[in-house]
Amino acid sequence: MSDTNTNEMVLNGIGASPGICIGKAYLVDKEGVDVVEKYFIDKKNLKKEVKRFKSAVKSAKDEVQAIIKDTHEELHQHVYILETHRVLLKDKMLYGKTIETIEKEQINAEWALKKVVSNLKSMFQNITDPYLRERASDITHVSDRIMRNLVGANTVNISEIRKRVILVAHDLSPAETSQIQLEKIMGFVTNRGGKASHTGIIARTLELPAVLGLKHATGMIKNDDLIIVDGNTGTVIINPTEQTLVQSVERSIKYEEYRAAVVRGSHLSAETTDGFRLHVMGNIELPEEVVSVIDHGGDGIGLYRTEFQYLSRPDFPEEDELFDKYRDVVEVMAPKPVTIRTLDINGDKAIAPSLECVETNPALGLRAIRYCLQNPDVFKTQLRAILRAAAFGNVRLLIPMISSCDEIFETKRILNEAADSLDKEGIVFNRDIEVGIMIEVPSAVIMADRMAQNVDFFSIGTNDLIQYSLAIDRGNNEVAHLFNPLHPAIIRSIKHVADVASNKGIKVFMCGEMANDPINMPILLGIGIDELSMNPQSIPAVKSIIRSIKLEDARLFIKDVLKKSSSAEIVQMVQDTYGDILPAKLYYELH
Ligand code: PEP
Ligand code: MG
Repeated sequence: MSDTNTNEMVLNGIGASPGICIGKAYLVDKEGVDVVEKYFIDKKNLKKEVKRFKSAVKSAKDEVQAIIKDTHEELHQHVYILETHRVLLKDKMLYGKTIETIEKEQINAEWALKKVVSNLKSMFQNITDPYLRERASDITHVSDRIMRNLVGANTVNISEIRKRVILVAHDLSPAETSQIQLEKIMGFVTNRGGKASHTGIIARTLELPAVLGLKHATGMIKNDDLIIVDGNTGTVIINPTEQTLVQSVERSIKYEEYRAAVVRGSHLSAETTDGFRLHVMGNIELPEEVVSVIDHGGDGIGLYRTEFQYLSRPDFPEEDELFDKYRDVVEVMAPKPVTIRTLDINGDKAIAPSLECVETNPALGLRAIRYCLQNPDVFKTQLRAILRAAAFGNVRLLIPMISSCDEIFETKRILNEAADSLDKEGIVFNRDIEVGIMIEVPSAVIMADRMAQNVDFFSIGTNDLIQYSLAIDRGNNEVAHLFNPLHPAIIRSIKHVADVASNKGIKVFMCGEMANDPINMPILLGIGIDELSMNPQSIPAVKSIIRSIKLEDARLFIKDVLKKSSSAEIVQMVQDTYGDILPAKLYYELH
């Protein structure tokens, strides 16, 4: 095919939501707000300047309120993010500090706000957990809104989009995404954000392709440019040649066929050809995601990350507030299990009323169970809420970041106290729940035999297990290429944990990202994992490939895998032995 178009450009980012779309770009450009001048304010005019700031905050608050009211029904679940923004607008770290800076330094409100936000953002940037780091974007969205009101800049009105387009933005705030008329949007492209960003979560909920974290997309893409967004590979192609266009249309059709095929079978159980049933569960962060787990054929919730309710707010959630959310999930899923993981916070200030101390290495800091054991009141409140929710269905309790048996004993002591206090108060609850631990720290792998005597199940968290075993910061792009679940050391660790669990008669689950890639299934089946948990969208494909594997073969296969010394050899083995399994073959072609 002859082709004269030489303007084609390929950008690489993070595939945050799968699928391929081809269409015209619609730029949501917010340039201009960032250009802020500094000037000094006379002492006598300081009060007026503070008032100007307060009135910009008030307008911002009114805007958020109006958006909450008009939010499209399908996105109503995300209103809580906007509620968070409403609270953040008056947060003392942002609101109070800006006023203080105006008064103390006698400078204009814009400059004071910019300074305060930049300090706050650099505190958040040190957080390694990608999910929490993403929450820093809430501060950006809120301060952008105040800034626009201060400088009188126009906001882009997404609700006025007339044709079907692909949204291209620096970053989409939850407020903006809530305004979207869904039927007009084909996909998302942003400079910022990753899988755990609001845009990522929303794109997956809506099942629209999204490529995020492209850094300079808004500088490279112009309004009405023809673009191809491939959420499977994380690429965006600008002004494609005719040949690329034809290939992409073919890929898109293939992908849709593939999706249709796997989704058709999503409600079948994940049973190997020789009759072994593996449970395939969903990971959720928000109670509303339960629907997606059910729709994609999940056998329950294998990991309910509970951090979200603690973030971006000046106080801690009350027991009743937690209980209501947990009960919703538990009741909807009953009698299927819901594995509620206790607070896995990063030694991080986002949950506490004060943002005072910054850890230099939060991944190795006061995180998860360490934080909870040092803050028994916060922990007990959550445990009481979980025990209460357990009266309404099938709840399992999961403890993150366990690195010693002592932490298990201490957790159980506090759990007993929580149960006793509920008992005394005559509140309905269920004490009889399974208690398990995340295996995600190397010391837990080594001590697995002792730990198994004190818990009902293990759940392997490969995201952190890889980070801590291979010494690879899971949020650092520079070493992302080394972050490999098929590293022989990881496979051996998992095998050891599964063998211990089997000897001790407890179940072993996996809820890290390793569980959602079909390529890993022969290995995980061979190792003897009892249950996998993953983002809901991955469930159908995983179930589908499990149905085409024979457990007996996988058990023999793993013996050979364990003899290998590099991940490249292991990947090759999987491809040579299982590469032609459909629809997995198609899956490989599409990735
Ligand atoms: C993990 O570490 O693999 C895990 C599932 O937990 P998180 O990603 O929440 O740290
Ligand atoms: Mg983890």
